[in-house]
Amino acid sequence: MSGPAGIGMTSDRTRGRMVEALRKGGIRDERVLAAMLEIPRHLFVEAGIASRAYEDTPLPIGHGQTISSPTIVALMTQLLLEKSLPAKVLEIGTGCGYQTAVLAKLVKEVYTLERIAPLMDKARRNLRDLRVYNVRFKHADGHRGYPEGGPYDGILCAATASHVPAALKEQLAVGGRLVIPVGTDDQRLHVIERTAAGFTEDKREPVRFVPLLPGIA
Ligand code: SAH
Repeated sequence: MSGPAGIGMTSDRTRGRMVEALRKGGIRDERVLAAMLEIPRHLFVEAGIASRAYEDTPLPIGHGQTISSPTIVALMTQLLLEKSLPAKVLEIGTGCGYQTAVLAKLVKEVYTLERIAPLMDKARRNLRDLRVYNVRFKHADGHRGYPEGGPYDGILCAATASHVPAALKEQLAVGGRLVIPVGTDDQRLHVIERTAAGFTEDKREPVRFVPLLPGIA
């Protein structure tokens, strides 16, 4: 079958297979799996590579950036929700908006920052097309976070830095958690939690992210 209906049926099935693969790969949070089953990942990549959207791989989204692999999106979201469901989340590195859409399904309010204006505009259109309305987009440098919207119960950063930007820790609410890749050649996900007494930091899985770049473009 050709045309949008045919594409829809095919993608529903392949998305189901993607979620099964995530489950086998160790993703346990059913809330995350349900959100990823629902969101049409193929609509977030260029039409020419839409057929690869459900493979467990990063894909180009233009401007030298990539949409993270399904496993990475699932893992980061699972880590963010591990202790409790955050109400308000800040995302750094909107990219095409796929991770943003997953977060928006799960939490009440999402702020998302992107330094490349055309990518942010594309993400905004993608989410509008899906009728996702609980996201605020900001064209800004994520190193500074977005204090106007804080404090946040969760912060998820999709680009790597050699050090955790101090502003992001400062914008966490007590009990809030920050999930961020740290390192350049040798990267790992770090989970930082704000407690009444200060911060705890836990090193998790090895990962591969694009760098958190300075300034806006
Ligand atoms: N979650 C995205 C992944 C995008 S890749 C998705 O699902 O598509 C990382 C993104 O971080 C890129 O779009 C890049 O432009 C952005 N980025 C890098 N440095 C940044 C910074 N300092 N502030 C905001 N965004 C940044």
